[in-house]
Amino acid sequence: MELNERAELDTSQANDLGRGGGSGGGGIGIPIPGGGGRGGIIGIVVAVLVALLGGGFGLNAMTNGDEGGQAGGGDLDQACSTANPDRLDDARCRNLLYVNSIQAYWQKAYPEVGNGNYEPTTTNFFQAAVNTGCGQADSGVGPFYCPADRKVYIDLSFYDELATRFGAKGEFAQPYVLAHEYGHHIQNLLGTNAKAGQGDQSGPRSASVRLELQADCYAGAWAKHATESKDKTGQQPLFKSITETDIDQAVDTAEAIGDDSIQERSGGRVNPDQFTHGTSEQRKRWFTQGYDRGDPKTCDTFGTDQL
Ligand SMILES: [Zn+2]
Repeated sequence: MELNERAELDTSQANDLGRGGGSGGGGIGIPIPGGGGRGGIIGIVVAVLVALLGGGFGLNAMTNGDEGGQAGGGDLDQACSTANPDRLDDARCRNLLYVNSIQAYWQKAYPEVGNGNYEPTTTNFFQAAVNTGCGQADSGVGPFYCPADRKVYIDLSFYDELATRFGAKGEFAQPYVLAHEYGHHIQNLLGTNAKAGQGDQSGPRSASVRLELQADCYAGAWAKHATESKDKTGQQPLFKSITETDIDQAVDTAEAIGDDSIQERSGGRVNPDQFTHGTSEQRKRWFTQGYDRGDPKTCDTFGTDQL
């Protein structure tokens, strides 16, 4: 993949909250133990809010504030301006570019699946812990979308975790993760997740698995059209190129974080009753379907028996 160094990024689409983001006091949030959590808040985040990796799978080895970082967050306007020649070495600016591309895609594609227009939303970068419209969350839950405040949350150190613990090393894992989370935003706009919230929250044919596989398929549809997406001025492409290697990296990432693979890796036996996101084979296949067809209408995981 080659990013366009001349692209003007729309910095209104992301915020850097820094450490303890959103708490107001700049304090570090209380780490939440894995597998349930305090008052069920994190349980809701994990089970309903469709964190990328899902419930019971806390990445709690992650930092809880021991690493450096700006307590108050950073100014993306400056950091990601074309005046800064090194901006694309900054993970925040690269991720902002991915977000710009994903939303530019949905501005065009949303009317194909829903009534009305796409409503853009922001991604919040945070470190360690964050307060959200869905309660407090720590990095251990992985990236997630909060339907209540309609925002995507990600601690960018998650990508290191993805590379070291899951072997998903390629850079294209990053836009895949973001496109998956924006898939949940699309579902929220369409009302799909509200309907699915009434269904089973785990199991191989559960509403949760159907939502997650659909988000993977939406991510694939974006990937297909990503090189068409334009920057803030509407003049410059955001990507100069995306290669088959990049797509393979997204597919490898989808495969690495299938429920069965995660259960095996954590030393347990594979228990389909606890599936929330789909198997490795399914995640790979639905991403690929989205990519091959390039059409979000083909992502109907609720209307098929062939999950
Ligand atoms: Zn998800």
